[in-house]
Amino acid sequence: MDRRLRVVRTLPALRRALARWHDAGETIALVPTMGALHEGHLSLVRLARRRARRVIVSIFVNPAQFAPNEDFASYPRTFDADVAALAEAGVDLIWAPPGEAMYGSGFATRIVPEGPAKVGLEDAFRPHFFGGVAIVVAKLLIQCAPDVAVFGEKDFQQLKVITRLAADLDLPVKIIGAPIVREADGLAMSSRNAYLSPPERAVAPTLYRVLSECGAAIARGERIARVLDEGGAAIEGAGFQLDYLEARHADTLQKVETAADDPLRLLVAARIGRTRLIDNVAV
Ligand code: AMP
Repeated sequence: MDRRLRVVRTLPALRRALARWHDAGETIALVPTMGALHEGHLSLVRLARRRARRVIVSIFVNPAQFAPNEDFASYPRTFDADVAALAEAGVDLIWAPPGEAMYGSGFATRIVPEGPAKVGLEDAFRPHFFGGVAIVVAKLLIQCAPDVAVFGEKDFQQLKVITRLAADLDLPVKIIGAPIVREADGLAMSSRNAYLSPPERAVAPTLYRVLSECGAAIARGERIARVLDEGGAAIEGAGFQLDYLEARHADTLQKVETAADDPLRLLVAARIGRTRLIDNVAV
């Protein structure tokens, strides 16, 4: 099988490639990314390769999911290194549309996700975010028509929103969640980790350490509210400003009272310097 990596930037070229694969009866997996690839993204690619004959990775820094005060302009862009890593990883096609191909002049359509997009986690701090994610992911899924699409549990609420969106819009795709890949000290890999200064990077693993300790305490039967209060204080004590540290039902993301409302997921978002980090663990 031809495994030569192609970089495609126009819809007609994408459609030609897809038509060849469809004619040959080959299954397709899509891994949507914003580039600045790290080992977490590559783990998604490896999962995608196990689930389909052909793998597309999209690279598109989606302006619709950034608020005006957020880091769209400064978001890390490492396209040449990304292409090299994806060639090595055995990807067939990189879909790297220019902005105009995604949001042409006169673009006037929105998707307003609800349900898991309105549970008071990321949505409470980034109100524009899931609308932007929903429109770009819907477009990518329609453009690439994959059999499967792989998303990381790193963005746990996003994974729920996208799973809901694909079901609600009858998109014939299976959404697959992939486990979080971490640095040796526990910090969840993220393109935004590049923003961290050396002192910030040194305390950043606190988030995962606290999540793990809280998860263990809740599993031992300690009261959730008290565990999370102490966890939040530990995160703030390390120098973060805490957006949230919460225990939620892992399927619905609804609030939980006790560990009996399982399965539970602990989710955190906190800022250090100019960097906002998110992470989560299963209990
Ligand atoms: P991004 O480029 O940050 O938009 O991420 C693209 C995809 O990679 C999303 O589905 C993320 O959830 C996933 N991802 C990002 N970081 C990690 C990680 N450390 N482990 C697993 N998946 C990740």
